Amino acid sequence: MEQTFYQKLTQTSLQDELLSDAVCQQLLSAVEVELLPLLDAAYQVRKNYFQNEVQLHILNNAQNGHCPEDCHYCAQARTATAEIDTYSLKPDAEILAEARAAYESGAYRYCIVMSGRGPTPKRVRHLAQLIHAVKIEYPIEVCLSVGLLDTEAARALKAAGLDRLNHNLNTSEAHYPNICSTHTYQDRMETLRAAQTAGLACCSGVIVGMGEENADLIQVAKTLRRLEVESIPVNFFLPISGTQIAEPSVLTPDYCLRVLCLYRFLNPRAEIRIAAGREHHLRSLEAMALYPANSLFLEGYLNATGTAASRTLQMIRDAGFTVEINGEVAEEMSSSVGALSKRASTPSEVVIKELEVLRPRMASGNS
Ligand code: SF4
Repeated sequence: MEQTFYQKLTQTSLQDELLSDAVCQQLLSAVEVELLPLLDAAYQVRKNYFQNEVQLHILNNAQNGHCPEDCHYCAQARTATAEIDTYSLKPDAEILAEARAAYESGAYRYCIVMSGRGPTPKRVRHLAQLIHAVKIEYPIEVCLSVGLLDTEAARALKAAGLDRLNHNLNTSEAHYPNICSTHTYQDRMETLRAAQTAGLACCSGVIVGMGEENADLIQVAKTLRRLEVESIPVNFFLPISGTQIAEPSVLTPDYCLRVLCLYRFLNPRAEIRIAAGREHHLRSLEAMALYPANSLFLEGYLNATGTAASRTLQMIRDAGFTVEINGEVAEEMSSSVGALSKRASTPSEVVIKELEVLRPRMASGNS
């Protein structure tokens, strides 16, 4: 492919113009589109908005399992048979202690994630108090993932200090009925609109590898662009035993990197996060994902472990990127980060998190 093709991609993205579906298809799958110049073209866009900085996110799986929904990709769905440790909402003291640990370990953002269709008004009031307490104690950005929400609930959470709501679209409108029957794509869109009406920043992303076509991934990326979503986690489906995706797609590192480039070109100002499946699907090319993406999760995902934090931080440094810690670029990592690495595993096999990893304070009797 001519050099001008890659230059045009960068230029179009930086000028806030939309790539056509045909060009999107081409960069995802045409053999004549080479990976290295494509990554460089996406990197020029990333560098323009985020320089070489990487934001770290740490998830707190605040409530695990017991979900009435049937999202086929999820180990916590009522229809899943995955062997996970389930528990209802952690006590406030435990969540606060884990927020402190995330802050001290250098996380830029603390993501509280709860299973379930959506919170009751009583649960919304409780979460509002909890978020207020975290924000008073620690200067850390707080993101909440809590299922479907209406505008009234979103306003209450915003008033309590919530910075961002996570609610993934996951896949396209056309493919949605193949991955869930208990709620719809429209339900998810309405939650994002409610969050935006309440003035919350939105984090919404995609799961790649659930049997969708390229066109589905392109549609999601363009919808997130229209919604001007600030943060986009790009997950690569982790085949946890007992989840219900009948025919997961075969994902190669090359394809995963192309998807990250696509999301960068279509959403140039958004925080693009390499989310679940980073280690499993990108394998030896993991560091290359930092060229299109500017954010990642430390310490694994909701129910699966990830690479040891120290190795991830080493990878970031080795590739010439810097870490944003508590809103500032760090030259040296906090020494407490080293402690996190004891709680993660190495990588390419999917390993279910044990209770002592999901609830370290409880396991040590230290809340
Ligand atoms: S993704 Fe959320 S709503 Fe869907 S089954 Fe899992 S926990 Fe429930």
